[in-house]
Amino acid sequence: MFIDGKMTPGKSAESIPVINPATEEVIAEVPRGTPEDMQAAVSAADCAFDLWKRTPASERAAALHKVAEKMRAHHVELVRLLTQEEGKPLPENEEEIWWSEETFDYYAELGRNSRGLVIPPGNPGQFNFVLREPHGVVGCITPWNYPILLLIWKIAPALAAGNTVVIKPSRITPLTTLKLVEIACDHLPAGVVNVVTGYGSEVGEVLVKHPRVPMIALTGSLAVGQHIASLAAPRMKRLHLELGGKDPMVIAPDFEIDTAVKGLAYAGLINTGQVCTSTERVYVHESIFAQFSEELADFVSKLRLGNGLDEGTDIGPMIRHRFREVVESQLSEAVTAGAQILTGGKRPTAFERGFFLEPAVVTSVNHSMRLMREETFGPVLPLMPYHDFDEAIRLANDCDYGLGASLMTHDARLVKRFFEEVQAGSIWINDPLTDNFAGPFGGMKMSGIGRELGQEGLDEFTELKHVHWDIDGGTKDYWYPY
Ligand code: NAD
Repeated sequence: MFIDGKMTPGKSAESIPVINPATEEVIAEVPRGTPEDMQAAVSAADCAFDLWKRTPASERAAALHKVAEKMRAHHVELVRLLTQEEGKPLPENEEEIWWSEETFDYYAELGRNSRGLVIPPGNPGQFNFVLREPHGVVGCITPWNYPILLLIWKIAPALAAGNTVVIKPSRITPLTTLKLVEIACDHLPAGVVNVVTGYGSEVGEVLVKHPRVPMIALTGSLAVGQHIASLAAPRMKRLHLELGGKDPMVIAPDFEIDTAVKGLAYAGLINTGQVCTSTERVYVHESIFAQFSEELADFVSKLRLGNGLDEGTDIGPMIRHRFREVVESQLSEAVTAGAQILTGGKRPTAFERGFFLEPAVVTSVNHSMRLMREETFGPVLPLMPYHDFDEAIRLANDCDYGLGASLMTHDARLVKRFFEEVQAGSIWINDPLTDNFAGPFGGMKMSGIGRELGQEGLDEFTELKHVHWDIDGGTKDYWYPY
């Protein structure tokens, strides 16, 4: 773990194995953090806060640029380690680490440009202004699917705004986080960044309930988000929650079928479908449905499964057997209810080990099936035909989640209706799942609270304070006695 500027095994004699999902080998062990370890990390972060908050923004910016610079110097090492513990192919991890480096540079600059506001005075002689202040110690709890990117979307703005952080990485993928702080955060004052490894129910809850941690930023499942919100409620903590999704894609009849096939395969299968914004429901116009399904099944059946470290791998393993079982159970229930699997859905026989699952294309699905209602988080593309655009929008919105939504069309009238009527935090037209760190990312409905990235992602890590200053300081005629 990394507490108060030092790598430490912590207080526990127990450890947690980290497994490579492509080989099922144990590649390392990390400490099973204890409540005392978490207490030590929060105390270190709390002590460091006063200094970090008062550090001039230009010095903080230089320190954050240096994090990016050090990450770049260890880029290859970070990419390989991430591939070993998370499983997705090297090109996808190249992108994850590249994005993370860029995000640090982006928030280094945005942080030093942070502005408050001067407003017209409420009374003559008053000076009214609004400050943006850091919260204090921010608890950053991260998932396994993009362990570095989603960590940096939290810590880069949190640190740029003057907060200190305690990180609780997923116990499934803690290694790249530990490596990152060891090699790239060692120049920051001790206590500004801390990492405690372990179980959510053990160290995670201590962090969430800790009275010296006024804000929790979590990316994770809806169930854990709901639980954390209930734990944080008694102290009215600030919550930033990036939760699950069940994103739709609508394919209009005017769009080129071969382009839509490739775009959809990417949107639904990148990271083996284990993306919060994976396309998990596809609505295709009835006039092209038959041809589209056939071409998609053909394209998907040719994608190459393999170890993420091997050149030529398109799709890596799923992260764990239990997540694969969730996908298999949704698929088998759908088949019992009448769905047809055109390709995939089976464990490939070519691999003796690893949590692989062939990507599936499924038709004859409907919204009564769990496959079309619950988060699948695996390599499945379920297709439904729609008759007109009203129906497509109704189906897209028929979901408790509202993270992202995609449309493939060249028809501007459909585009306008889609971005106006579909309830989702991100709308992608013709280029699904692209990121842009200058714009806010996050979900509507049950997909979460708050936004990451952009100016909004920096503002989340600040509190507003309105200062009313009567400069003359004289007695007022509205004071007692009336
Ligand atoms: P998870 O909810 O199981 O775990 C997320 C983190 O919460 C882990 O670090 C875990 O240890 C911790 N945790 C669990 N119980 C806790 C508790 N009681 N107290 C404190 N911490 C606790 O999620 P996961 O399986 O790691 O990640 C997959 C989920 O994350 C999916 O639902 C996916 O949609 C979601 N996700 C959302 C986004 C987004 O931006 N909206 C991005 C990526 C992933």
